[in-house]
Amino acid sequence: MSGPLVNSPIVDSMTHSFDALILGGGAAGLMCAIEAGKRGRRVAVLERADRLGKKILISGGGRCNFTNLRCRPENFLSSNPHFAKSALARFTPADFIALVDKHNIPYHEKTLGQLFCDHSARDILNMLEVECQHAGVSIFLNTKIHQVERTPEFVVRSASAEFRAPVLVVATGGLSIPKIGATPFGYDLARQFGLAIREPWPGLVPLVMSEEDCSLYCDLAGVSSEAIVSCDGQEFREKILITHRGLSGPSILQISSYWKKPQPISIDLAPEREVTAVFRDPTAPRTLGTLRAELRKTLPHRLADRWLDARAPHSWTNQALAELEKQAHGWVVSPSGTEGYEKAEVTAGGVDTDELSAKTMESRKVPGLFFIGEVVDVTGHLGGFNFQWAWASGAAAGRAL
Ligand SMILES: Cc1cc2nc3c(=O)[nH]c(=O)nc-3n(C[C@H](O)[C@H](O)[C@H](O)COP(=O)(O)OP(=O)(O)OC[C@H]3O[C@@H](n4cnc5c(N)ncnc54)[C@H](O)[C@@H]3O)c2cc1C
Repeated sequence: MSGPLVNSPIVDSMTHSFDALILGGGAAGLMCAIEAGKRGRRVAVLERADRLGKKILISGGGRCNFTNLRCRPENFLSSNPHFAKSALARFTPADFIALVDKHNIPYHEKTLGQLFCDHSARDILNMLEVECQHAGVSIFLNTKIHQVERTPEFVVRSASAEFRAPVLVVATGGLSIPKIGATPFGYDLARQFGLAIREPWPGLVPLVMSEEDCSLYCDLAGVSSEAIVSCDGQEFREKILITHRGLSGPSILQISSYWKKPQPISIDLAPEREVTAVFRDPTAPRTLGTLRAELRKTLPHRLADRWLDARAPHSWTNQALAELEKQAHGWVVSPSGTEGYEKAEVTAGGVDTDELSAKTMESRKVPGLFFIGEVVDVTGHLGGFNFQWAWASGAAAGRAL
């Protein structure tokens, strides 16, 4: 990024006054800045990293799954499932697509309503940067905040400068991927101002198997299969993937957001298939070979063999076969944990939605203080929903500044 938009690094100790300060130049912060800037507000984005939107750049395998055509409130977790509805209704996938179209960014639907850039996630970041420029947004990179005070104006201090504004928007994201700069800053700031936090946990994250299960399956790392995975009343039908430490793949990532130790998860390895149906034919030999051949029609051969070896029936009675059929549709796995924030695509939990206005994202206790994006206790499913929440919550706040 170049030009007058970036004021970085900050020179000597000086005070900058704005109508609104936005902490964090990620998806939510940039959208908020654009909306507020378009309405004539003098807005500054303060970003601790040396560039904007690092997570946008690595998202969707570098192609940014920027929204989902089938976005519904049910695609989000929150202790208040109604909270996100208002913002999502007032800034929809169609609104974001209109912006993408305006910038002639080519994209495609991959699967299940997920929209990805044809070329690169950089297209989305460039678009946001250009929109910021048109909206007159000031951007300060390499600006690590040391202190925030309310006097009643908000005073934000970095090592070399002071920023003042009557409005402060916190868009500093969650704890996922510390190596690209995730910090607990947003939660700490919420606590400083007396706002409640729903204890964060890693979401959309691979699960680690118990030692016993890992010794049975982890050498099959790379093997994947379609399955229905369920836990805590939720279920997802997509691929599972065996990894060196346990399980991943879209349906595992989805369920991980709902999983809490020591709950087991249940995996239907043969959705809508009856793996023992062949044995209704009285001439079918009731042998492991027949069963293996049947299971191999549904599962990758190595997984079919390994899974069956671990639970070969002791007898070939109808009851034993019924039990095996049941297990194929309900393979119970008790993960020992997750791969944590290092691998998590999002952080679930966060600033309690009871603390915020659903329409504007403003704190009920502290007028002028807003929280948007991932730092809030609203977490999307896999598939472009987290960005849609970032755009929608950012727009909701930006329109209220
Ligand atoms: C590998 C990966 C792939 C993903 N792919 C997708 C995808 O394809 N589709 C999708 O919908 N979601 C995806 N996500 C999730 C999505 O990236 C996030 O939900 C989204 O970026 C959250 O936006 P945000 O603006 O709230 O936070 P962030 O994008 O995390 O932005 C927060 C910003 O605040 C800055 N910051 C932090 N602390 C401070 C501080 N103290 N002072 C100043 N600045 C600070 C950070 O440097 C960062 O730039 C992915 C996440 C990961 C990790």
